[in-house]
Amino acid sequence: MKFTELGLSESLLKAVKEQGYTTPTPIQQQAIPVVLEGKDVLAAAQTGTGKTAGFTLPLLERLSQTHPKMQKKQIRVLVLTPTRELAAQVAESIKTYGKYMKYSSTVIFGGVGIYPQLASIKKGVDIVIATPGRLLDIAGQQGIDFSALETLVLDEADRMLDMGFIHDIKKLLKMMPKEKQTLLFSATFSKEIKQLASGLLKDPVLVEVARENTTAEQVSQVVHYVDKSRKRELLSQLIKTKEWQQVLVFTRTKHGANRLTKQLEEAGITAAAIHGNKSQGARTKALAAFKANEIRVLVATDIAARGLDISNLPHVVNYELPNVPEDYVHRIGRTGRAGQSGEAVSLVCVDEHELLFNIEKFIKSKIKKVHIEAFAPNPDIKAEPIQKRQGNRGQSRNAPKKKKSVGAEINSAPTTKPKQRRKPNKENNAAQIGANLQARLDAMDKKKPNTNHKRKK
Ligand code: AMP
Repeated sequence: MKFTELGLSESLLKAVKEQGYTTPTPIQQQAIPVVLEGKDVLAAAQTGTGKTAGFTLPLLERLSQTHPKMQKKQIRVLVLTPTRELAAQVAESIKTYGKYMKYSSTVIFGGVGIYPQLASIKKGVDIVIATPGRLLDIAGQQGIDFSALETLVLDEADRMLDMGFIHDIKKLLKMMPKEKQTLLFSATFSKEIKQLASGLLKDPVLVEVARENTTAEQVSQVVHYVDKSRKRELLSQLIKTKEWQQVLVFTRTKHGANRLTKQLEEAGITAAAIHGNKSQGARTKALAAFKANEIRVLVATDIAARGLDISNLPHVVNYELPNVPEDYVHRIGRTGRAGQSGEAVSLVCVDEHELLFNIEKFIKSKIKKVHIEAFAPNPDIKAEPIQKRQGNRGQSRNAPKKKKSVGAEINSAPTTKPKQRRKPNKENNAAQIGANLQARLDAMDKKKPNTNHKRKK
């Protein structure tokens, strides 16, 4: 299939061509025609599949087709994202694809001054890309009017709920008109997501590209077993001997990210850290320097890295394995994006064997182990439990905060709630949507042999 067959206008096709895209990705092929028709969409898709263009292109097309008279503070399209980085990236995509179109847009997120954001909405904008918390603050000040909203996009809805935004989202939804198009993108489908979807979506078209526990086929994955105390040394050696020029390195904690950045700098490797404690300015600066190849290593925590889109990123290193297996898939999804090949290297110490076991179980395949003689682990070192720190993940920003321990980190494992099973019920639209989706995902799985965990391209 070609982009020209999707019903997009010349100005969008020209911008797409300039990006060097030749064929629409599977999610774009599925989503663009239905979004153009104005239908609601429930999409099972993660970053790296081309989902941003999948909703941005048809939304820009629809915007250009009508020219309603707008009042001050009214907006036509709202895209909600979990993180500032993702909001900035979606805004960037809209700018890129809408280069030859007439529209206005603005990005709204916390950590920066609210007044310029209020002023830009007051001037009148067609598209707002926002994180829920700051948008709610603005809405609370009557700074935005949703009465003319035509389309709402919830991007990475699962992560928004993970981060405790559900109450903010619900409050925002109450301010919006019932009649609107809604697109919900999520990598996973928990009970909460299904409930949210059922209350929001009308007759949604299901679009699915890859199961959340699949890893990109273009990413080669290896594990090096190494002692914890020698990880930094091994990382420096890998970067230097393999001449890696652009590496995204994951640590479990913000403190760990800062410490590693400092150590890499001391070893003569340019590096910067990106995590929730850094100001928005510092995060944007670090990302820009990394993208421009001014620094070789970007050290990130899971939440900060969520949604990062760095084209052609060749190397991802798990300096520490994540506590949550799903985060492994998200991490390595930073490389091997949209058809590019990539390499994901995990440095695993004795404490992390159980985490590795859980990850392999989750992705349903064994990761190749490559032994490095000079870094062979000392067999006398015994495993110590990995400290799972209490963080604010999973808490609403408005909910009373749990008391944090000293040095608590945001990116800790989410607290697991006992699973409640609910019988599917015909009246229960949530269960129905979930059951339909689950059946289709199961059917996709059945089509594949058990060892095939590749992303559908
Ligand atoms: P996303 O899943 O939206 O984060 O997109 C992942 C990456 O794929 C981005 O770097 C896009 O620029 C790129 N991309 C999106 N659509 C296409 C396409 N049709 N062909 C090649 N690359 C694409």
